[in-house]
Amino acid sequence: MGAHAVNMQPMKNAILSGLIVSLLSAVPSIIYAEAEVEPRWSIAIHGGAGTLDPANMTPERRAAYETALQNALDAGSAILAEGGTAMDAVQAAIIPMEDDPLFNAGRGAVFTWEGRNELDASIMDGRDRSAGAVTGVTTIRNPILLADRVRTDSPHVFLMGEGAEQFAAEQDIEIAPPEWFATEARRQSLERMRERELSALDVDHKFGTVGAVALDKDGNLAAGTSTGGMTGKRWGRIGDAPVIGAGTYADNRSCAVSATGWGEFFIRVGVAHEICSRLRFLRATNYLSMEAALPVSTEERDAMIQLAADAVMADVAELGGDGGVILVTPEGHAIFSFNTSGMYRGRATSEGINEVAIFADE
Ligand code: ASP
Repeated sequence: MGAHAVNMQPMKNAILSGLIVSLLSAVPSIIYAEAEVEPRWSIAIHGGAGTLDPANMTPERRAAYETALQNALDAGSAILAEGGTAMDAVQAAIIPMEDDPLFNAGRGAVFTWEGRNELDASIMDGRDRSAGAVTGVTTIRNPILLADRVRTDSPHVFLMGEGAEQFAAEQDIEIAPPEWFATEARRQSLERMRERELSALDVDHKFGTVGAVALDKDGNLAAGTSTGGMTGKRWGRIGDAPVIGAGTYADNRSCAVSATGWGEFFIRVGVAHEICSRLRFLRATNYLSMEAALPVSTEERDAMIQLAADAVMADVAELGGDGGVILVTPEGHAIFSFNTSGMYRGRATSEGINEVAIFADE
């Protein structure tokens, strides 16, 4: 080493770590910049996933589901197209599905073993990751609205049962009598299950949970999920839908996810948060990798996002679970991933996509 030589290693290390920090923290602003150039919006909804037999789907039944899904999608899209927030769009899409007896959320929720309708819901704002959730409520007409009120007007994230209902009363949230939620079809499902002494886990009664995820023109993401859970649930069983990170997650830096399926497995995998984490790191490593200089086409980006969601769903399947997810990204991708024969679903974007579907091959 000559007289003027200095050890450059500490400086190199400092530059490198500074670069990594600035690249990682630059990711959200890169996304915002994209959104500013061309404000996009995007929304995806689901009305549950499971083993659907096309033979049991009459044309009338199919039309009823498609109309209900389209109405929910339109309600959310209208808000986003007018420049409204992703949080408002998610609630606007979920409320009509909670009120529709076709879906297992709000009115038309499945019955517990004891013959009650116990409702769960959660919502998350990708701007600041504020979140609200409720479980085991029995008198709240639209549990998604209560979940959001927990987020905005309580110091908590997750409230249960009577306490949640007491909070709802203080907040003037609309209540409904038990008859509002109870439907004959769901009661019969419980009776069939009881006659055969089956548990909710032995038969496929996990249909009709609802959810929505959205990106608004300001580049903000939101996710929400609402459900009656699983037919014949007992002992105060809680599924993934109201669990932040399992059934619902939103983070402007990565994506917004809402899940449906066999809740126990979604909790164990932490599905919604896991997908968001993978996308966050995928994005960060793209910027850091040697290939970063190469432009990634929209198709390639789509494929990578789909792969990340599919990989997490494969993990659920490996443990023995089934179901599906919907997600939107800051770039406006609206993606489905499910390992069941069908998922009631729909998506719409500012780029002109507007579709609803039921079976896997459509
Ligand atoms: N995930 C819900 C639960 O386990 C059920 C469903 O999605 O249909 O409670």
